[in-house]
Amino acid sequence: MPDTLPRPLPLNPRHIPGIYNYCDRWCERCIATDRCRLHADEAALKATTMPGGHEDPWQIVTAGLDDALAKVAATRWAHVFADIDPPSEAELQQSMRDEDRRDERMRVHPVVHAAEVYRQLVEQWIETETGLFQREGDEAAKRAEAGTPREEVEWEVEQLREAVEVIRHFMYPIHAKLRRAVHPRIPPPELDVEVDSLQNDTNGSAKVALIGIDRSLLAWRQLQRRWPSSATLAVMRDSLESLRQLVEAEFPDARRFLRVGFDTGDLEPPC
Ligand code: SF4
Repeated sequence: MPDTLPRPLPLNPRHIPGIYNYCDRWCERCIATDRCRLHADEAALKATTMPGGHEDPWQIVTAGLDDALAKVAATRWAHVFADIDPPSEAELQQSMRDEDRRDERMRVHPVVHAAEVYRQLVEQWIETETGLFQREGDEAAKRAEAGTPREEVEWEVEQLREAVEVIRHFMYPIHAKLRRAVHPRIPPPELDVEVDSLQNDTNGSAKVALIGIDRSLLAWRQLQRRWPSSATLAVMRDSLESLRQLVEAEFPDARRFLRVGFDTGDLEPPC
């Protein structure tokens, strides 16, 4: 199997190279924080912004990335670029025009368009439905006052809060990952580099989007259980279900993509 995906080299031997490429970027809930170079870099960055820390915190991240990129370029990609002359000014201008045209084509691709529609629907829903949750909080307080056990009321509210948090977390990554998955399929073609038919960036990006879609669908169902007659919730869920079907059809192998660390058995089960 050709190894075509660039992987930063680990400085810490426990770090799993590239684990952050196809994760859900929900670090607060991630089971792999101690195996992730990106998380370590971000933690170091935060630590240096504390009083008395490093004067230029970005140096830590950029120095680490520069180091990794230099090694990647020297080892894995050298053969790709060895015979390529630097582009002329005219070629650079043409490339920028091509990329603008490509962006236009990408915006009307059915998958990207559906993801954009879903994202906008959620944004509007978050703006307009805040009153719904305010009322829910008031009703929960009344139920508790009327004698419903406090734990029961808190659990119900927590379920709704969690559902909204999941929807909010994934609304942007779903769109971003699908743009990335679709990008190589929009002409003009990218560099003629051999790509594995399954373990490629398109399938990896589509898989992460599908994970976000699956979890968001469960969250919408959770909200529908609380408000079963809500036409708005039905529209949101239908929109996301349609998107899921489009993604499954466009990237039929995506779910078989193995995400390093998460799908390859490198992580110890949580205690
Ligand atoms: S692998 Fe986990 S810790 Fe690392 S960036 Fe992704 S979510 Fe965050």
